[in-house]
Amino acid sequence: MRILLVEDELHLAEALVQILKKNHYSVDAVHDGESGLDNALSNIYDLIILDIMLPKVDGISVLQNIRKEGLTTPVILLTAKGEVSDKVTGLDSGADDYLAKPFATEELLARIRAMTRRKGEIIVDSALKYGDIELNTSILKLSKDNKEVKLTLKESELFAFLVLRKGLVSSKELIIEKLWGFDAEVEHNHVEVYISFLRKKLTFLESAVSIQTVRGIGYVLEGER
Ligand code: CA
Repeated sequence: MRILLVEDELHLAEALVQILKKNHYSVDAVHDGESGLDNALSNIYDLIILDIMLPKVDGISVLQNIRKEGLTTPVILLTAKGEVSDKVTGLDSGADDYLAKPFATEELLARIRAMTRRKGEIIVDSALKYGDIELNTSILKLSKDNKEVKLTLKESELFAFLVLRKGLVSSKELIIEKLWGFDAEVEHNHVEVYISFLRKKLTFLESAVSIQTVRGIGYVLEGER
C-alpha cells in the first residue's frame, strides 16, 4: 500500500509521513503541486493525499490533471479550515474525500482505511490493452486475437501493473511492494519467477509484446504498436 502525500507545510508533511509509516504504509512526500502531479502520473500509488494550497500548481489543478489523464487513484483533499468552496470544487473535480485542517490523525487513518476498502471492491476497468495483447483482470485471462491463456492472480496483477506503468521501468522492490505489500518478506527471485511465467505465456500467444529486463533497474513492457 503506497501513498503519495503532497503537502507544502513541512512540519505537517513530516508528521504525517511518520504516522503513516508507523501504520505500515509506504509514503512518498513531495512539497509542491508540480512534483505532486509528476509523481501521481507514475501511477504507482494506491492513494493520494493532496493539499489544496500548494506552490507552483494548486491541488485542484493537480487533481483535475490526474483525472484528465484517466487515473482513478483515490484522492483525499486537505482543505484549510472554512474553505467550503474549495471543498465543493474539489469533489466536483474528482476527489473521493476531503479533510479540513486541522484534523486528528486518527480521522485521517480512518478515511484511508475506508478509501482503500472501497477501492478493493470496485473493478473499474477489467480489460487492459497493450499492443496486441488484452488482459482481463476479472477472469484472469491474457489473450491475443482468439488465442488465450489463463493467469494466476499474481501474474495478472503483475502484468496489469506493467501495463499501467507503460514506458516506465519497474524495479523489483516496487513490484514486491505493489503485489505483496510493504511488510512482505518476498525475495527478489520471486519476481523473476513470475516474470518468467509471464514471458512463457506471451511466447505461447505469439505476441509482439515482451517484458524487457533493464539491467540493474527492473522491467519494462515493450511492443506497443
Ligand atoms: Ca498548503
